[in-house]
Amino acid sequence: MAVVNVRVLIDGPSELVFDYAVPMGLDVRPGCRVRVPLRKKSATGTVLAVVEAEQMDFALRELESLIDPEPLITPVLLRTGEWIADYYGCGFETVIRSLLPEAVRSEENSAKTRRIAVLEAAPEEAVLEKLAKRAPRQHAILSLILHAPDMRMAVADLGEGSAAALKGMEKAGLLKLEIEEVRRDPDADGVDEILESQPLTLNPEQQRALDAILASVEEPSPKPILLLGVTGSGKTEVYLQAARHVIDRGKTVLVLVPEISLTPQTVRRFKARFAAMQDQVAVLHSNLSQGERFDEWHRIRKGVARIVIGARSAVFAPLPDLGLILVDEEHENTYKQESVPRYHGRDVAVLRAAFEKCVIVLGSATPSLESWQNTQAGKYELLRLDQRADGQAMPLVRIVDMRLEAAKHKGAPAILSDKLRTALEQRLEKGEQSILFLNRRGFARSLQCPKCGHVCQCPHCSVALTYHRTDERLVCHVCGHQAIVPRKCPECKDPAIILQGYGTQKVEEVMAKVLPQAKIARIDADAMRRKHALRDTLNAFKSHKIDILIGTQMIAKGLHFPNVTLVGILNADLGLHVPDFRAGERTFQLITQVAGRAGRGELEGEVIVQTFTPHSPSIQYARRHDFDGFSEQEMEFRRQFSFPPFAHCAVLTSRSNHERRAEFTLQTLHLRLAEDLPPGITLGEVLPSPLVRSHGQFRFQITLRSHRARPLSRHVQAVLARTSLPEDVTVVFDMDALSFS
Ligand code: ADP
Ligand code: ZN
Repeated sequence: MAVVNVRVLIDGPSELVFDYAVPMGLDVRPGCRVRVPLRKKSATGTVLAVVEAEQMDFALRELESLIDPEPLITPVLLRTGEWIADYYGCGFETVIRSLLPEAVRSEENSAKTRRIAVLEAAPEEAVLEKLAKRAPRQHAILSLILHAPDMRMAVADLGEGSAAALKGMEKAGLLKLEIEEVRRDPDADGVDEILESQPLTLNPEQQRALDAILASVEEPSPKPILLLGVTGSGKTEVYLQAARHVIDRGKTVLVLVPEISLTPQTVRRFKARFAAMQDQVAVLHSNLSQGERFDEWHRIRKGVARIVIGARSAVFAPLPDLGLILVDEEHENTYKQESVPRYHGRDVAVLRAAFEKCVIVLGSATPSLESWQNTQAGKYELLRLDQRADGQAMPLVRIVDMRLEAAKHKGAPAILSDKLRTALEQRLEKGEQSILFLNRRGFARSLQCPKCGHVCQCPHCSVALTYHRTDERLVCHVCGHQAIVPRKCPECKDPAIILQGYGTQKVEEVMAKVLPQAKIARIDADAMRRKHALRDTLNAFKSHKIDILIGTQMIAKGLHFPNVTLVGILNADLGLHVPDFRAGERTFQLITQVAGRAGRGELEGEVIVQTFTPHSPSIQYARRHDFDGFSEQEMEFRRQFSFPPFAHCAVLTSRSNHERRAEFTLQTLHLRLAEDLPPGITLGEVLPSPLVRSHGQFRFQITLRSHRARPLSRHVQAVLARTSLPEDVTVVFDMDALSFS
């Protein structure tokens, strides 16, 4: 007789997994919550899998009971979880931890309840009069409830010591006492009231896009849709109207944004459009308390909350009857989780949509080349919005050649070009606002000549070589090619070739000197540590208490300020020379997105881009807002070198406090990986990571590439499973890696 056992993930920080026998007659399925014996106590856990055992294993203990009769994880989410474990090569229990957040699994959390007193019907006058004379306290309580909404009041609100009176009144049949669940409302702390917004009349382009999305909603297994719309083209309005349609048909909607705190305006627009059904909108912030997260999760699962807005992990929101998934700014790196399980939120969303058979819309002004390639291959449907929604022109982008500036000022290149400075002065005079953007991506430093702009590149991979201070070498982080550090520029022979960079603080300092009359604020991770600092600064900027906003990547996303007519990008090429084949793509995306913050109102916008490499394609195509041109040449380069989207690229990293052991471990793994390497996989060399030392640990890495993902991650998993690692070495496998640091 086949015996069924279950594998259970025990709640709590130690994340233990044990098998238990199932008592007769109990229907236990994966995703069920169970109570099990653990040592001498009892514990709660989640069923990971039902495993068929060959024969009765008497050593196995029986589980005690089933907590919920139904599994907490839906079959589709369970399937999604299995896919993640296989594709990203990680343990299933780590995936379950993401599927069922700790707040939901933990025994400590439960629904919050309160006692309420309810009047089923208004008492007769005679009764009230009698009570007024004989029992004034009861009379007072009764009149309070009588005038409360729905004739219901929380016992706690009826004042100290009313318990005895209430009991007596219940006995006398005057009222009823009930238990009610209360929601811990994350928005309850009086964030200003949101007025309902009305749908706008769509322009023809938007209407076509909406029609196409709605046509897909009718299909049994729709294709994913890529919505490529220039900045300000009104993608959000299309999302809102599509969501409305799906909600009206009784289905639910999932909205993914790159980061809740950095996209306050998008979240607000959803809240405003669905203000009339506000308690059906759940916003999954990272700063929800455990209790709030528990409540929101259960509201979603029960179908009470029908629109869920959240970052990456919201892709696991247990929405029933999912009708539409929207992924805003689908190209953003923040969708990739940089800890185990290292899944990509957008890709998991696409997969979930396929399992749910619902429509998914990926939106961006600068789509990832992965998604773009999927439209070219016919896997995704492409919809376009090529005009700004309100008929405004795209901002005019001017390039300032910082090599000339450096020559003009002799010596250290200036932070602010004359052109940008004049433009800022003009905006101040006219009472218009400006944004200054500083690219701080990439710590890995490359060598650049300030005179001719030349950057030392790998001859084999066409990525910038990384400067290694410790051994004074330039190294290619894709193939391992090494070069000595030149003493003068290989191109123009100038000896001034330098490593250089400056931060936002420095810019703020300089600005205060150059334009003392301007009100300036800075947005970056350092300045925004205080709670609400970001929101307050953005509000101050919106109400024009600030003239010039200086910021990093934090201000590149989805902000909409109609009075901003000038955007300055200070060091456009800083991200261009990092050891990453996506450097060009990221630079193009960043410039296009930042430039898109200008001229979003009545007034025309201007963008000034400062760069040492004015002719680089990323900068030139961004200047012309030309995604097609950019993608065409970039795809050619990717194809030629077999980079994504033409291959999957994974990174295996080792970390240790002991440099030799980190390196040796990875070399051992390299040998084993090479042994029976499946065909089609390219195995790179063991190299020090671009960031060789981080948090006191030494890091080494291997890059692997393959046309097919699964054989690659399975091969690596198999090798890792049969290799015992030294205790002080950590090995991390990152499938479809976005970061090569
Ligand atoms: P995107 O998300 O593509 O960057 P937005 O949705 O933010 O663009 O739209 C930019 C601006 O245009 C917003 O102020 C929005 O209210 C406005 N807008 C969008 N659609 C329309 C429309 N059909 N008619 C008028 N204004 C619109
Ligand atoms: Zn190389």
